[in-house]
Amino acid sequence: MNVELSRRGFLTAAGVGVAGTSLGAFGFGDLEVAHAAAIRPFKLVNTMETRNTCPYCSVACGVILYSKGDIRKGENADIVHIEGDADHPTNRGTLCPKGAALKDFVKSETRLKYPMLRKPGSGTFERISWDQALDRVARLMKDDRDANFIATNKAGVPVNRWTSVGFLAASATTNETAYLTYKVVRSTGIVGFDNQARV
Ligand code: SF4
Repeated sequence: MNVELSRRGFLTAAGVGVAGTSLGAFGFGDLEVAHAAAIRPFKLVNTMETRNTCPYCSVACGVILYSKGDIRKGENADIVHIEGDADHPTNRGTLCPKGAALKDFVKSETRLKYPMLRKPGSGTFERISWDQALDRVARLMKDDRDANFIATNKAGVPVNRWTSVGFLAASATTNETAYLTYKVVRSTGIVGFDNQARV
């Protein structure tokens, strides 16, 4: 038996084998071989499952990413299939057309995978590290808040507003992460706050 044969393939082949063996006795061996050759191998055999969330909209459907290559052994993992997570309470395994095409999104040549910076006056973007990006964002936010924070209105009533910066968060997240994001952003005084689901 082919060691690559999956359980589904084995059961199918076994059924074919029983019929083929009987047929073979009558001279139908070639039919068995042709039928077995036409059965496609189960494509998810030897893949690793990773649970995740569809990044497109605020429904936040659960997905399972199937990859070949074990990163725990230092191998590169390559996603070969994505489907809805049947155990996820939101979507119960279903995906809309956008979610069903997630693999194309992951494999897209134009997908942004790391921070890019276009310096003032420059017409091109250059790659920077995550540390550089986070340091820069933190520095600019701190300077802007120090310069523009509104502690009180004209009547002297405390308002604690920071209106010169907006914050765009991701909708593909858990309730707990969204709660913490909201708390952090609002505690700085930021008024303009939204997520990509409405953009
Ligand atoms: S699968 Fe469709 S409905 Fe579900 S989160 Fe993705 S885009 Fe939204």
